[in-house]
Amino acid sequence: MMIMSVLVNNSKCVKCAGCVSVCPKDALALKSEIVCDEKKCINCEICITFCPAGALRIKK
Ligand code: SF4
Ligand code: SF4
Repeated sequence: MMIMSVLVNNSKCVKCAGCVSVCPKDALALKSEIVCDEKKCINCEICITFCPAGALRIKK
């Protein structure tokens, strides 16, 4: 099964937590950095489209 997850580029992320808010699956959390729960993520890319810093991408 394909793993669904997003990766954060920490040199771009400003830790606004907006991606945590927009994720419809509650898959993201802001710890010391943004982490994605691959058991919840459906690769909808809403967070990627939202991120004002362009810090997220699909993990392949
Ligand atoms: S929306 Fe982008 S800049 Fe904001 S916390 Fe998420 S990854 Fe970081
Ligand atoms: S791709 Fe969709 S489900 Fe996965 S973390 Fe981003 S908003 Fe949430």
